[in-house]
Amino acid sequence: MVTISNRRLFFAIILDILLAGLGHMFMHYIKRGIIILLSAIAIGIVVSLLLPSNFSLLVALFFWLWEIYDLIQLSQKERLSLTKPESHKLTDKVQNHQNHCVRCGNNNPAGSSFCNMCGFALR
Ligand SMILES: [Zn+2]
Repeated sequence: MVTISNRRLFFAIILDILLAGLGHMFMHYIKRGIIILLSAIAIGIVVSLLLPSNFSLLVALFFWLWEIYDLIQLSQKERLSLTKPESHKLTDKVQNHQNHCVRCGNNNPAGSSFCNMCGFALR
């Protein structure tokens, strides 16, 4: 089953692998993404100065795995907050006219797949 949030997560994982923290920023975890990017740079400098290159590859691999794990955790939390019964009622009620964003409360034009304010997936 491929839903929009699964595709978003997959894309975020790719971005995080390309540049540490980028996927987190894409998922709107801006602060977390910046912290991850800065710590990746710091770890990268320390590791490349102190350890042989084989080790820095290993550290990078562990960092990637942690980032992916963190993204999956975050998106599962997002999905859980979406499946709460009260938010379901709320979206069902307004779905005919507007797409009410569960995350920021913005009313988006009918037919929008993503929130205009925060980019949150509406369907
Ligand atoms: Zn929103």
